[in-house]
Amino acid sequence: MDVSNLEAAFERITVADENDDLLVTSTTSSYHKSKGALSTTVSVSALASSNSAVNRQKVPPLQKLAATNASRIVNASVTKVTLPSHDSQSRTSDSISHRRTLTDSVLYIQPSIAKQWSLPMFDIGKPLGKGKFGRVYLAKEKSTGFVCALKVLHKNEISQGKVEKQVRREIEIQSHLAHPNVLRLFGHFHDSKRIILILEYAAKGELYKHLRRELKFPEWKAAQYIAQMAAALKYLHKKHVMHRDIKPENILVGIHGELKISDFGWSVHAPNNRRNTMCGTLDYLPPEMLRGAGKENYYTEKVDLWSLGVLMYEFLCGEAPFEDTQIQTQRRIARADYQIPNTVSAEAKDLIQRLLVLDPEKRIPLDEVETHPWIVKYCKTGERAYNRASGDKFRSSSERES
Ligand code: ATP
Ligand code: MG
Repeated sequence: MDVSNLEAAFERITVADENDDLLVTSTTSSYHKSKGALSTTVSVSALASSNSAVNRQKVPPLQKLAATNASRIVNASVTKVTLPSHDSQSRTSDSISHRRTLTDSVLYIQPSIAKQWSLPMFDIGKPLGKGKFGRVYLAKEKSTGFVCALKVLHKNEISQGKVEKQVRREIEIQSHLAHPNVLRLFGHFHDSKRIILILEYAAKGELYKHLRRELKFPEWKAAQYIAQMAAALKYLHKKHVMHRDIKPENILVGIHGELKISDFGWSVHAPNNRRNTMCGTLDYLPPEMLRGAGKENYYTEKVDLWSLGVLMYEFLCGEAPFEDTQIQTQRRIARADYQIPNTVSAEAKDLIQRLLVLDPEKRIPLDEVETHPWIVKYCKTGERAYNRASGDKFRSSSERES
């Protein structure tokens, strides 16, 4: 697909406009990309289709959100910078020229605001990170002061990388999702060279970095995180979306320490019946995706349950259960060959063992994950880490300081 086709394709995508009345709190913090060599990239055959209708979810009225969040005001500093043109864009943030500083508090987009977004409508702030194709900047919508993250994708890089489909999918899927543990995509727009995604700002950055810094998470924190992931996955699966790429690198952390699944580039509407090429981390790859490549419908949304098990293991042990040489990792995944250290509690062990099951149909369903004794022990009914009232007492001293 060339650039003009790509543009035409994007023009057909409607911007989700029912979600604009979401309130976001924000703060200033900076994260530098430093992923370790934990993951190995592999290519496997995967399936893709994205034609199922997605139900729209109503969000609470703006006023209600503003009122309930009034006590959570956090200053957000957006330093206006000039978005570098593609040609002059350096790989480092040093080339970004800082011009002025704006300070604001709780910010929100009003439902009636124009849907035709364009770059001049935003003050662009500091770079938040850089992905394979996108650079992400802190930004503020000028008319409302709404703080968000703008992911800037260059059209020529997207077509050179042959990832038009993933970008389209990311937009199509993510713009129809609204859940506290799923990163919101408020809208998108493009100019001649760039596609810009308006994303919810996740003030505490990548979960991956938190995990590397803390080495592993205490059980209470891991349980709250797994409960949030289970809630998000339940929501996605109900909408017939499987994520397929659950791993710490694809989870962001919100201002209140709540998890937000992002990176819907590899997610797909089920049922899947078209072939595609997929790059993912071998450590998180479910056995059916290793085994069945090439066959029709060889996996279902239950792939996310396996990955949830790998995630839980990594939270508690600090490394993925099948970390090894590439070939050995594949062999061990195929046999579900892993050992859980004795430092892990019996309840946690039980849940990992119910998730890391070779037969996808025998994996514990998400409803039962949420009511599993290990989850219940650390999460009161209905409690999630984004619920401040109940979350505070579980937070570690280092978190309270941050
Ligand atoms: P990939 O290209 O494999 O998707 P990635 O997920 O790291 O890599 P991006 O999604 O482009 O790439 O994001 C780059 C980095 O920017 C992230 O790793 C994260 O640190 C930061 N980032 C992205 N989105 C947000 C956001 N909404 N809020 C805060 N930081 C973000
Ligand atoms: Mg990403």
